[in-house]
Amino acid sequence: MAHDGRMCRSSESPLERILSGLRDLPDWVAEQPAGQLGQTIVKSREIIDRTEAVGAEATRRFEKAGGYKSDGFLGMVPWLRVNGKLSGAAAAERVDTARQLKELPRTEEALARGEIGYQHAVAMARTAEHVGAAQVRKAEASLLQAAETMDPGQFVTVAKNFEHQVDAEAVLADANRAYQRRYLQIGEVTNGLVRLEGQLVPEAAAMLRTRLESFMKPAKGDQRTAGQRAHDALVEVCRRAGGAVGQRDGDRGGAGGGSRPSLIIRASLDTLAGLDGAPAGELEWGGTIPAETVRRHACDSAITRITGLGELEQELTQAARTIPPSTRRALIARDQHCVFPGCDRPPPWCDGHHLIFWGDGGPTTLDNLGLLCRTHHHQVHEEGWKLGRKDRRWVATPPALNIVPRARSA
Ligand SMILES: [Zn+2]
Ligand SMILES: [Zn+2]
Repeated sequence: MAHDGRMCRSSESPLERILSGLRDLPDWVAEQPAGQLGQTIVKSREIIDRTEAVGAEATRRFEKAGGYKSDGFLGMVPWLRVNGKLSGAAAAERVDTARQLKELPRTEEALARGEIGYQHAVAMARTAEHVGAAQVRKAEASLLQAAETMDPGQFVTVAKNFEHQVDAEAVLADANRAYQRRYLQIGEVTNGLVRLEGQLVPEAAAMLRTRLESFMKPAKGDQRTAGQRAHDALVEVCRRAGGAVGQRDGDRGGAGGGSRPSLIIRASLDTLAGLDGAPAGELEWGGTIPAETVRRHACDSAITRITGLGELEQELTQAARTIPPSTRRALIARDQHCVFPGCDRPPPWCDGHHLIFWGDGGPTTLDNLGLLCRTHHHQVHEEGWKLGRKDRRWVATPPALNIVPRARSA
């Protein structure tokens, strides 16, 4: 007997119907106007979240029946990790949540109906794990109401507050366990960069964020990504903590100012002189930096100590590598901000750049100096831009236009 299409369809399981819908989905999405894809994204999220609810119940029943054993697994988590293509942590989260949701039927229903998201349900399950499902059930209605109106991140705060109300000691114990897992690791130099990784306690992260944010605002025409700005802000925080004394009146202390410099570089005479074939500069903690970078730091070394300088200073009788406080004050009064055309970063962001590097015989006097923010100072030394003054106006020429080799430029 011939089946018509409709009958054929109804004999398929709901999962097969979903899968055949998924097969049709890419073509359908491709035809939708881009401006109207918002609803498509929201619906996709809803399907994923509601499927998690079904998955939770199935996981629970499958685990209870010991179904994973017949597949040769010792537990539900490894079974789900392998067969569900999840990381160990993600699989464990699903199994734990499934178990807790058994005790929180209203939460599971809200997830299945798409009223809350999977991450809300995880937060509820965690709370139940911490203070007991019975306590959560008592407040489940109001917690769910909060979950429906907040994103999961905000909801975690509500759930944590609830836990604290029910069992302050448990919350403290939880925080103490987390505290033990705090760490910060600064790696070795690999391919010119150092990997920084760690886990901060929330108040440390809040402090770091506050400090970084004040240095992260993009300047006019800033080309840096948010990640690059955060990186530069961290350097700026360290820099100012390390040696920027008397910042207000433009005197940054200088060598012998008492505080430890932020950065110590060991460099040979040839490196400082920018000679061909010179070795790289060495950092105190290991790792090397190119000669141009050594020269940039040496250019205004008020908060940097370059070892090997003494040698050079003996050779150059007129050398005055540290900009004296009075000269720096005059420099700030004259330039007022970074002098790179179009830049207005204020003096605290700036170094005093020698137009002719002092190691090449340039004097540390006002007409051989210009304020340059860290970004532009880098651009002038390492990226080959040339900064000059013509009729009292600052001119910056990009590397492509610098016909003269830049070896002796700064
Ligand atoms: Zn410089
Ligand atoms: Zn600048």
